[in-house]
Amino acid sequence: MKENRKVLLVHPEISRTKYNFAGIIDNEPLELEYIWAMLVQEGWQPYIWDGQVEKVPFVKRLRELRPAVVYICGRTRQENFMKEYAAVSKKSGAVTMIGGLHAQRCYSRFFTGYIDYVFTGFNTDPIRDVLRGDSPENISSLCWKRDGRWVMNRAVAHDIRKLIRPDRTYFYEHSDRYRYLELLPAAQVRTAYSCPYRCSFCIRNRMNCGVYSQRDIADVVDEIAQINCENIYFTDDDFLLGEERLEEFIRLVREKNIRKRYVCYGRADFIAAHPGLMRKLRDIGMYYVLVGIEAADDGHLEAYGKRSDNSVNTEAVRILNSLGIYAMGLFIVDLDYTAADFLNIWKWVRKNDLRHVAVSIFTPEMNTELIKEYRGRLITRDPSHWDYLHVVAKPSRLSVRGYYFCYHILLISLFLRAWRQGIYDFIDYRFFIGSMVKNLFGFGG
Ligand code: SF4
Repeated sequence: MKENRKVLLVHPEISRTKYNFAGIIDNEPLELEYIWAMLVQEGWQPYIWDGQVEKVPFVKRLRELRPAVVYICGRTRQENFMKEYAAVSKKSGAVTMIGGLHAQRCYSRFFTGYIDYVFTGFNTDPIRDVLRGDSPENISSLCWKRDGRWVMNRAVAHDIRKLIRPDRTYFYEHSDRYRYLELLPAAQVRTAYSCPYRCSFCIRNRMNCGVYSQRDIADVVDEIAQINCENIYFTDDDFLLGEERLEEFIRLVREKNIRKRYVCYGRADFIAAHPGLMRKLRDIGMYYVLVGIEAADDGHLEAYGKRSDNSVNTEAVRILNSLGIYAMGLFIVDLDYTAADFLNIWKWVRKNDLRHVAVSIFTPEMNTELIKEYRGRLITRDPSHWDYLHVVAKPSRLSVRGYYFCYHILLISLFLRAWRQGIYDFIDYRFFIGSMVKNLFGFGG
């Protein structure tokens, strides 16, 4: 009988409510596309099922394909779905594997009977080695079972320069779906792992064992040139890092005459200190820069270890506005906020003429020092609430109800402002504002 070489790579849906921003930002399943490329090299037959875009339900797809192996990745908020899909895959007789950002830090949450392997790094080699049948004893960044008991092999930081190029077959098949706001389609490119900064609320700097690793920029530009898509979204936690690297990026993009639009994350202090460089980036197509403004006051910025202040944030937004680069200001509403603090964010946004704004509820990440600090205040243990739209720990100066009320008033005000300015014309404003109004007196999300 022919050996079953099918591997189903799964990225579950983000949420099963309609209030999930699907159709606004839908990310290409880049992590799975790296694994796909490795699997093809190894003679396996890969398939992707991405819950963001698939119309066929997961179980139906599983029954149709009958894969030998199912690999599932996701973030904290997707943990329940990851487990649900792993359980049903195991029942079908497949080997079950878990990986991705959440598993890197919270691997032990997946130590169940229906999961066979948990991968704790970015590297695709451990997946390859397990599939080759190598002894798990010798595979790093892997959790596995010896005689029914979980064994945690040491996680090892990966050098991103060793990563192979992703296979974008699935992206091209669904290019009507993967987007960043109005940029449709938008392909994702990763040029670095982790982040060298240490903002206290952030878990991204713990990825890759806390080791920052960058690709050679010439390799990045070569990849971009080959992507058949006009919009490129850099998924790095901070793309605006290293003046020389960025100057080289600009030079190579010009030299190769690449004409695309770019989206990236960048720190306000870098933007404020490099207006000339930002101008050059604008000239080659920088379109959106996502900037962690975080707070409207210096006290919170200091408490977060942001190594930046309000005047720097103001200057960064001023520079981006003056250059015509869209600044997407990312705010965190802290659990110690009063109604006045929520109002201050609204005032800051208006004063600084920030058109694009995203607001996250302060969320102590699992398996960090921060969650230990908040343990006694947790009001939920449901991982789906770790989506930055839910209050997971008791606010200190408002009731949970009062906090949600202020949060949704802020969101509604920002959405109405965006509606008036016509900046998200591709979305159904009425639906989102209706959902927020409902949440005013409910719970959020
Ligand atoms: S918030 Fe941004 S700059 Fe700070 S650690 Fe996280 S990714 Fe790095």
